[in-house]
Amino acid sequence: MTSDKWKQALTPQQYAVMREKATEPPFSGALLHNKQDGSYVCAACGTKLFGSDTKFDSGSGWPSFYDVANAASVRLEPDSSLGMERTEVVCAKCGSHLGHVFDDAPEQPTGKRYCINSCALEFTPDKTKK
Ligand code: FE
Repeated sequence: MTSDKWKQALTPQQYAVMREKATEPPFSGALLHNKQDGSYVCAACGTKLFGSDTKFDSGSGWPSFYDVANAASVRLEPDSSLGMERTEVVCAKCGSHLGHVFDDAPEQPTGKRYCINSCALEFTPDKTKK
């Protein structure tokens, strides 16, 4: 997709984050405190990325997950921007930037913290209650 098409498909903030790898301000995202059961999908292409069962409050100010819903749905890439060595998390289907993953959640089952921009996600609630 061309950048003009992306600009039409996304909000300005989503474009900055998802196509230009910006980071939304901490504690600003609509889904940060969402605790409903459901799926978190890519805001650009709708691919399921995370499930509510792995979401936790990391205190970072961004939605945090300890695992992905499906390993094939994201691509992990080394990112040495801003003078830091980080691992970028990208939507495998559409290539949009989602956030970064860190190995600093020892209290979680995987030890990982997928730190994801809220605006890069859309939430789909489960239809059936558990
Ligand atoms: Fe996507």
